Amino acid sequence: LPRVVRETLEKYHSRKEKAKLEQEIRMKNEALEHANQELRKLDQLKSEFIASVSHEFRTPLNSIQESLALLGDGVVKLGEAKGNRVLDIAMNNLNRLKLLIDDLLDFSKLEAGRMRFDKQTQDLADILNEAVDSMRGIAQKKGLSLQWEGPAGHPGVLADRTRLLQVLTNLVDNAIKFTPPGGQVRITWALEQDHEVKVMVSDSGIGIAKEDLARIFDKFEQVRNQMPGTELRGTGLGLAISKQIVEVHGGRIWAESEPGRGSRFVFTLPCEGYMPQEGK
Ligand code: ADP
Repeated sequence: LPRVVRETLEKYHSRKEKAKLEQEIRMKNEALEHANQELRKLDQLKSEFIASVSHEFRTPLNSIQESLALLGDGVVKLGEAKGNRVLDIAMNNLNRLKLLIDDLLDFSKLEAGRMRFDKQTQDLADILNEAVDSMRGIAQKKGLSLQWEGPAGHPGVLADRTRLLQVLTNLVDNAIKFTPPGGQVRITWALEQDHEVKVMVSDSGIGIAKEDLARIFDKFEQVRNQMPGTELRGTGLGLAISKQIVEVHGGRIWAESEPGRGSRFVFTLPCEGYMPQEGK
């Protein structure tokens, strides 16, 4: 090629190259700015989270301190009705603190990928039964009916039994917490396309606004749908923990709800076929 033509071509290419580079830099800058915004938001949420968790700790701690002071000063005495009640209150608050700490530890273990899962083939029907049995007392105490029903059969799932029970307990516990007395909480399961089981926890409670449905599973997110009479709040980590546990098991979790018309929490697990049933 003649030199002039070659030089013109080179110039043209380098200009094009420059424009391309500039465009790339602009895009990268925008992505960086976006990532920065996300980080700032997360940082803000984390600060709010620390404030609210500290508050969650403070309330039961104050109560325990007061109870112990009453007992220590002899204002109330153990073995007498009032004293026993004060001790009961202190014990309940201690249990609550323990649950909060368990949540925090579980969450940090999951985040760091340090939680061990002991997966074995489990009878799902059996696990649902156990979950309902363990929660029935709490439901009854609040005047709620709690039951589980499902098709005949015992689907097998590859799961860490304790962790799967933790997910169910958390969903049922929430259902109880956000359902006024007289309501119902129900667990059901169904087989989907032969290879997946769907577990559903439904309640007739206060429901969740559409815009909150997805974010209630995010870490540190709490929805201020305070139900009158529920002075006990959690850490807002229960669903984030449940989501991670379900995902480790190869499943998905989501919520369906309308304010005032109850909620339905659904999660899936890969199904390993049916368990052999002795004597059937
Ligand atoms: P928390 O410890 O605050 O209950 P979760 O992660 O378990 O944290 O739940 C997050 C939020 O989702 C709750 O604070 C509540 O606002 C909402 N939520 C969860 N389950 C239900 C339900 N069954 N009915 C209505 N709202 C619910």
